[in-house]
Amino acid sequence: MIADLIIENARVLTMDDANPRAEAVAVRGNRILAVGKTASIRAHAGTKTRVIDAKGGTLLPGFVESHLHLFSGAWGWTLLQLGDVRGFDAMQAAVRAFADSRPDEGLLFAQGADYEILGPGTRLDRHALDAMCPDRPLAVMTYDFHTLFANTAALSAAGLLQGRDLPDGNEVVLGADGLATGELREKFALLPVLELRTSGGREMLGMSGIEPPVPPTDAEWREDVEVLMDGLRFVASKGITSVHNMDGNRHLLELLRTVEEEGDLIARVSVPFHYTREMPLSELDRAGTMAGAFTGDWLSSNRVKVFIDGVIESGTAAMLDDYANQPGHRGVPIFDSATFAEAAVEIDRRGMQITVHAVGDAAVRIALDGYEAARRANGLRDSRHRIEHIEMVDPADIPRFAELGVIASFQPLHAPQGETQTTEGIGPKRAAHAYAWAALHRAGAVVAFSSDWPIVPVDPLLGIQTALTRQPHLPGLPDQRLPLIEVLKAFTCNGAHAGFREDATGRIRTGMLADLVLLCGDIEATPHDRIAGLGVRLTVCGGRITHAC
Ligand SMILES: [Zn+2]
Repeated sequence: MIADLIIENARVLTMDDANPRAEAVAVRGNRILAVGKTASIRAHAGTKTRVIDAKGGTLLPGFVESHLHLFSGAWGWTLLQLGDVRGFDAMQAAVRAFADSRPDEGLLFAQGADYEILGPGTRLDRHALDAMCPDRPLAVMTYDFHTLFANTAALSAAGLLQGRDLPDGNEVVLGADGLATGELREKFALLPVLELRTSGGREMLGMSGIEPPVPPTDAEWREDVEVLMDGLRFVASKGITSVHNMDGNRHLLELLRTVEEEGDLIARVSVPFHYTREMPLSELDRAGTMAGAFTGDWLSSNRVKVFIDGVIESGTAAMLDDYANQPGHRGVPIFDSATFAEAAVEIDRRGMQITVHAVGDAAVRIALDGYEAARRANGLRDSRHRIEHIEMVDPADIPRFAELGVIASFQPLHAPQGETQTTEGIGPKRAAHAYAWAALHRAGAVVAFSSDWPIVPVDPLLGIQTALTRQPHLPGLPDQRLPLIEVLKAFTCNGAHAGFREDATGRIRTGMLADLVLLCGDIEATPHDRIAGLGVRLTVCGGRITHAC
């Protein structure tokens, strides 16, 4: 049979244990026609076949990015990014320049800030922000999207200056004067400020499982569609062919449907239903409706996202023992064990996959206990429930991942970014069980790697490099590195498994969907600390070239 596309002279790493290496791949339509030696694959070349000489570059299954936030990531390009900014003067200059460029914006919104952006041991507050911007509402999101610092104008406009009673795990931090310090922890504390934005913050509503309160105008719809297209082009340029979006609402799926109808959905996207503590279980009917309406190869749902806790940096992660830097404090989980188990049993009963954000070891245990309860109640099924982040795990819980078939979803770039602050929170002794990728892998868990963009850059090659080069940041901590092949699996076939698509994507095998990434060089011959610089030469998704350089 004649191929539409042949990639030859490649070092093909198929992730298919039955046939791990090859030299060339032929593609016909949206599927892989043949995998083998260059000489035999050439037999599929016709006059119209496009033949690409890989020149010895590595060809992999397209990357499966199993945790990111496409909408807020792409929208972020229009916001003030503070990831590289340090110190008051630099921050003030950035804020003022941004304010001048956005004279009509209802909320000056910055992202990516380090908790200690003003210097080691400091904490932002409304007074510092007032000094940078006294007259217009200003809000600064930390890089992890769990804490927002707002100035006095923003707190007043949002009605938070005097504090507010909020559900467990959310907090308007108050100072000795009884007024808000400006630090707002977790979703319900942040939302009133984000709503001040001229956009209404619609790109972030999916983070809270909220649909837009009023239908977007045609212009807003178009703007959102264009933002998503930008985001998709960007992820395709990084070699990504499948995306597990980790926030979501029906609105996002409908926007993506428009992108698909216009022929621009160039990566496969799955979007979860976001279930929150405040929702009655009957709200899961909406999750079922979403799942039923989006069942294609390109756009799908059938996953429920739940936040069990927050983050260690703000003390909102739920720990089994006291924080090292806050004696007597263990963090209050958003879902306690009984409430999560009740939700898990019901979601599982409805046949959906559960994905939880669990950072602290107590949150991880609540998740595992809930999954175990679901198995007891509903019987054994191929549920593939997931736990995201797992920044800290109690050693007793490590074998339970494999026992319960739970996927361990890690973001390699979180370790170098957050490790030092995590250790401040949990203390050096427990640091041995922080970001324990290798320990979970050795215990038989399926480990999936991803970025969590926009919290860190979306770039699988950078993620691979980080996973291969991570060093213990304190003497005596275990080595959590995995071999190259395992890291590549975590970015390809393990992600496909996590998304129930292992029959179609994540491996290079005849008959599977033609989702491929060709690197500019040989990844196995590249020193680990230079992999991020390799570059993506070609991305193919469903037989279509979605990126080429
Ligand atoms: Zn996330």
